[in-house]
Order: sequence, then structure tokens, then C-alpha cells
Amino acid sequence: MDAISYERAGDVAGAVRAAQQPGAVFIGGGTNLLDLMKGGVSRPMRLIDITHIGGLDTVATLPDGGLRIGALVRNSDAANHALVREQYPLLSQAFLSGASAQLRNMATVGGNLLQRTRCGYFYDTAFTQCNKRQPGSGCAALDGHNRTHAILGASPQCIAVNPSDMSVALAALDAVVRVSGPAGERTIPFAEFHRLPGDRPDVDTSLQAGELITAVDLPPPRFAANAHYLKVRDRASYAFALISVAAALQMDGARVQSARIALGGVAHKPWRASVAEQMLAGQTLTQDTLRQAAAAALSDARPQHDNRFKVQLAQRAIVRAVNMAAQSAGRNGGVA
Ligand SMILES: Cc1cc2nc3c(=O)[nH]c(=O)nc-3n(C[C@H](O)[C@H](O)[C@H](O)COP(=O)(O)OP(=O)(O)OC[C@H]3O[C@@H](n4cnc5c(N)ncnc54)[C@H](O)[C@@H]3O)c2cc1C
Repeated sequence: MDAISYERAGDVAGAVRAAQQPGAVFIGGGTNLLDLMKGGVSRPMRLIDITHIGGLDTVATLPDGGLRIGALVRNSDAANHALVREQYPLLSQAFLSGASAQLRNMATVGGNLLQRTRCGYFYDTAFTQCNKRQPGSGCAALDGHNRTHAILGASPQCIAVNPSDMSVALAALDAVVRVSGPAGERTIPFAEFHRLPGDRPDVDTSLQAGELITAVDLPPPRFAANAHYLKVRDRASYAFALISVAAALQMDGARVQSARIALGGVAHKPWRASVAEQMLAGQTLTQDTLRQAAAAALSDARPQHDNRFKVQLAQRAIVRAVNMAAQSAGRNGGVA
């Protein structure tokens, strides 16, 4: 049995200091970390409990009209917060499609950002090949069961996908992650927060050692009226996404002024469909235009032997999510 020490941090500086100790990790809601520890995937020596740090559990409007969501805000509280529901319904929907009510009550925003892949070969230590768990050991998923794995941005080292629903909406909304570490505070644009696997699939994000996530900032709301989060999964609830789409539009009648589309379940990070966004911007939203944009979004797809279906599924999900976003005005309860 491994000996583990437990320490409760009182403030951000104390948490960052404590994290400098060898084998130290932060613990938020614990809903991912404890599973990883029980399975022997993660073996920390010190748990730094950050849930009692004051000031990180609030949602507040920023001077520019954007929104700051503290890293310790529970997923259920973020989903149901009036400002999130009214101004960022895409994010509220994404939160509510994740996990179960009990898990959302425990899970924090910071922990959600850092939850690890659900690849079965990563979680099951009986499989000796996993470059994410044991760098250099290989990737059992390449020749194994890979129905749920990546179709975009993968590498010969790793074909795992990021499982977070919240992060797909944050990618579409151009969020910024605020962190505090030994070198001080900094911000990380969302597109740069999660990494593609390349030859270092063991590194999920651009966080430096010992950095604490303190908040997520959202730009002023532009997509409240026309937004939809679509999650396609094997079960109607309590299941990770096979494919998900966060779609947000600024509409001028039937014309798309600007579009934001991000995909989940397709890559090692939330995947922004930038080409599709550009193809829709300035166009009248017809089904032909939309289908062409969806096809372009998947033109670089490289599916595995078990998940070829994901390419067409993702295209269809984009078409459906954008149509739902276009028709959602008033239904979301959002304000433009
Ligand atoms: C059965 C089950 C089903 C699920 N289904 C879904 C789903 O459908 N969709 C979905 O999106 N998620 C799903 N989840 C995952 C769930 O959303 C995550 O477990 C949760 O969001 C993690 O948050 P946490 O606060 O519990 O993180 P923790 O487990 O406490 O921490 C996770 C990681 O983040 C680090 N960490 C935590 N907070 C910080 C911080 N502020 N700064 C730096 N590092 C930090 C920890 O050190 C750890 O490495 C599911 C989980 C379970 C168990």
C-alpha cells in the first residue's frame, strides 16, 4: 500500500507552495483523481485539498461584460447559475449533459478541465502498452478496440480522446484559463490549453508543474440567442460522448454573421471546426451550405478500424447541432 499525506490549502499561494513538494497533486471534487488512484493509474504521495480556498467558488461578471467562473465552482452550480444559463446557454447545456447529477454536484470546473481520457487501455493497468500511462510502452488501442477513439489529430503514439463535455463548449466560446504557479499568474487561451498527443501523449495540457487553475474567463456573450450542445452517446444519460458538437451562431435573419463550432469525442482535445465556421460566416444558412461545411470539418479525419462510423456521425451531428442552434432563438432563454 502506498502512504499518502493529506493537506488542506487555505489560499492560492499556500496551494502553489504545497504543490512544489515531490509527488503532490491538487484534489478538487476527487471524482476523477480517486478513480485513477484506486485503479493504480495515478500514484500521488501528497494530496493538496484545494476545496477550502476562498474566492475560487464564485461566478462574477467581468468589467468587459464577460464572465469569470471560479475553478472551484461545482459543475451543477455553474450549469444552473442564472448568468451562465442566460448568457452562455451552450455552456449550461454542456455541463448538464455530463456525468450524473451526483457527480456534477462534486465535480469542479478546474477538475473537469483536467479529467483524463476514458481510453480503456489507459485505465486498465493489466494492459502494459499505454504511452499515456507509461511513456514508450506502445498503444494497445491501435490494434485493439478503438470504437470510441480519435478520428482527428491523433498520432501513432496515442489515439485517445478528451472526454469533457464542458471543455467542448469552452472551446467554442473562446474561453481563457487563468492559472497561478511558482512563476506567478498567467492566462492560457483555451485553444492552447489541451494538447494533441504528438510524441508526448502523457502530457494532456500546457499547464506547468505546480500550476493551479484559478478560473475560466468567458468573453462577453455574443451567442446566447442561437446556441446548441448536441451529445451523441450510447446511452441517453450517464455516458461519455461518441461525438458531441457545440454550435453557436450570430444570426441576421437567415444569414449567419459568425459561427463557432467545436467537436468532442473526436480528438485528444476539443476540436474547433474553424474551416466550417469560415464557410458558414456571411452565408444564408441552407442545408447544402451546412452539409458542405460539415464535410469540410471532417476532411482530415483518419478513423481507426472500429470507428469509421464516427466520420459520418460527426458530419450529421454538426448539421443537426447548427440547425438546432439556428432555431433555438428564445428557447434557450438566452439573450443576444
Ligand atoms: C461515472 C462517471 C461518468 C462521467 N461522465 C462524464 C461525462 O459524461 N462528461 C464529462 O464531461 N465528464 C464526465 N465525468 C467526469 C467528471 O466530469 C470529472 O470526473 C470531473 O469533472 C472532475 O472534476 P473533479 O473536481 O472531481 O476533479 P478531481 O478528480 O479532483 O481532479 C481531476 C484532476 O484535476 C486536477 N485538479 C483539480 N482541480 C484543479 C485545479 N484547480 N488546478 C489544477 N489542477 C486541478 C487534479 O489534480 C486531478 O489531476 C464522469 C465521471 C464519472 C466518474
